[in-house]
Amino acid sequence: MFESAAFIISNTDYKKCPKPDLPEFAFIGRSNVGKSSLINMLTDKKNLAKTSGKPGKTQLINHFKIDESWYLVDLPGYGYAKTSKKNREAWEMMISEYLINRENLQLVFVLIDSRLPPQQIDLEFIDWLGENMIPFALIFTKADKQSINKGQQNVAKFRKTMKANWEELPPIFLTSSESKFGKEKVSEYIQEILES
Ligand code: GDP
Repeated sequence: MFESAAFIISNTDYKKCPKPDLPEFAFIGRSNVGKSSLINMLTDKKNLAKTSGKPGKTQLINHFKIDESWYLVDLPGYGYAKTSKKNREAWEMMISEYLINRENLQLVFVLIDSRLPPQQIDLEFIDWLGENMIPFALIFTKADKQSINKGQQNVAKFRKTMKANWEELPPIFLTSSESKFGKEKVSEYIQEILES
């Protein structure tokens, strides 16, 4: 669906990101959630975002330009247990400044592991997005790792948990980078926003 994808720049400071002259979509989630795999799936590239066995390593805001018409941003993951307090604080500062100040940001995709029941760390991050009025959608990953049914059950649990706090639920997608399940739906959703 998307034709071209090129790496542009990595930063630790939102002020050094590319000029905000194109719409932008950011991807974030717990480290190891499958973010790099999802970005590679969406862009049809094997290695655009680096999938790694070393969670928590990339602490950079990575910009990619898609079809010369929008930016895809790979944000460093949260919740890596072995990260020091200092690293965690630096992450929080970098990410919150980026998310609050990046004027061309259309939407944040928050990735969630479809194998797990609702996790506090994801719920807290989502609440923070809500408090700061940052639009987001949820992408549940690794759907192929169990039956679709089981994945949908975890999505339903997540919805139910969110309903306690939220009047309206965000768009929710279930995906697998392995089988490419959900790829079209996410791509079409991005396309819809770009055309609106
Ligand atoms: P990141 O740290 O969030 O960027 O996660 P990665 O994309 O590097 O994925 C972490 C691990 O999960 C890797 O071993 C991937 O091969 C695996 N993985 C990611 N997405 C999927 C998926 O949809 N299905 C399966 N079976 N494995 C996946």
